[in-house]
Amino acid sequence: MFDKILIANRGEIALRILRAAKELGVATVAVHSTADADAMHVKLADESVCLGPPPSRDSYLNIPALLAACEITGAEALHPGYGFLSENARFAEILADHHIVFVGPKPEHIRLMGDKIEAKRTAKRLGIPCVPGSPGAVTNDIEATAVAKEIGFPVLVKASAGGGGRGMKVAHSAAELPLALTSARLEAKAAFGDDSVYLEKYLEKPRHIEFQVLGDGQGKAIHLGERECSLQRRHQKVWEEGPSPALNASERLEMGEICAKAMRELRYAGVGTIEFLYEDGKFYFIEMNTRIQVEHPVTEMITGVDLVNEQIKIAAGSPLTLTQEAVTFDGHAIECRINAEHASTFKPSPGKIAYYHPPGGLGVRVDSAVYAGYTIPPTYDSLVGKLIVHGRNRTEALMRLRRSLDEFIVDGIETTIPLFQTLVRNADIQNGLYDIHWLEKFLATGGVTV
Ligand code: ADP
Repeated sequence: MFDKILIANRGEIALRILRAAKELGVATVAVHSTADADAMHVKLADESVCLGPPPSRDSYLNIPALLAACEITGAEALHPGYGFLSENARFAEILADHHIVFVGPKPEHIRLMGDKIEAKRTAKRLGIPCVPGSPGAVTNDIEATAVAKEIGFPVLVKASAGGGGRGMKVAHSAAELPLALTSARLEAKAAFGDDSVYLEKYLEKPRHIEFQVLGDGQGKAIHLGERECSLQRRHQKVWEEGPSPALNASERLEMGEICAKAMRELRYAGVGTIEFLYEDGKFYFIEMNTRIQVEHPVTEMITGVDLVNEQIKIAAGSPLTLTQEAVTFDGHAIECRINAEHASTFKPSPGKIAYYHPPGGLGVRVDSAVYAGYTIPPTYDSLVGKLIVHGRNRTEALMRLRRSLDEFIVDGIETTIPLFQTLVRNADIQNGLYDIHWLEKFLATGGVTV
């Protein structure tokens, strides 16, 4: 095991990693921008290093400053968390060149999954079902039209370098296709510096279901079941739960095993998430994330497996000791991402938290790095924290969520707690009857009244 690990992130995930490291007996180094000097992860770490001014490019994305921080403190490993440099293959290579262990998969796997066309090709080769579409990038309108006619309209034009839902355009007919291609290319070029796009069949009412995988890079890999993340706003997940209300046990085991087998073949190291759209009983691969995800606690609550602890042990070279048979799924968990935003206009609301009272009791977990008197800076994402509840079944989890939300007090800023208070009382949500468009439609037709 490592003696010391550097946490190259901020907010709740920095604290989450710090907790796992402490429980492993590993010393921690926090890094921060000048805007985050008072952050919880900085206060609780054994050591801290200021990286630079608030903009991420000068601090959390500043590779020379991170290398210097490792050098000064003697950290042997670096945990990137999510976002920032977590899926930057070049960064992982640079760390290796400096004999610092990147807590994550091999750079070639990060690169492979970072390119959506390559990722899809690999998934297909490994026996993972994919959305019908063009075999690679489409280079011109004529080729695109031929592919679209073959798979049938509507089609989705997607950026090969895509992320965060950018560079994605729907075309319902051949007449709409040229404009969709042009605007997807422009958006992709502006966002990622790469205008290559590909086509996929546009699924009308899918659910977003993702499988958590864990591999040791030495040929062992298992799955830890699925999370359903269909409730999204602007392609950002808002509410995540596991197990999915739409799957049965045999679908879970069959798909989980397909994912685990694929990871064994790749000799994948670390945690990963294989994301699917699910419609009419069929799964369609969309992408793989090669990092810990925001919604990982859902899986931890139903399996009892500490994913960050596993991640660090694998990075330190330990073989996976957890077997597929030892993974059991217990009850139901729901996570709400609570943001510093107005609950109906979604206007950001950074500022000072005057009073803070998180909920507690059996089956309630709050992953947050805020405290009373803390000021949420306007510079970064607006996550205040994640409320995760666990119950013996979905009904119990929903009731627990309802009472936890009613206990949660965050004064001084606006939060999205009222949105979740509305959702948890909604009949469609209670019945598990929702798809990826449900939340946007709900918000467009009145949604929350705050
Ligand atoms: P990104 O990496 O930009 O987030 P994804 O491929 O993960 O892109 O897709 C993001 C979201 O876009 C999905 O969760 C889903 O809501 C929607 N989406 C992606 N592909 C399709 C498709 N073929 N049909 C319908 N919706 C899709």
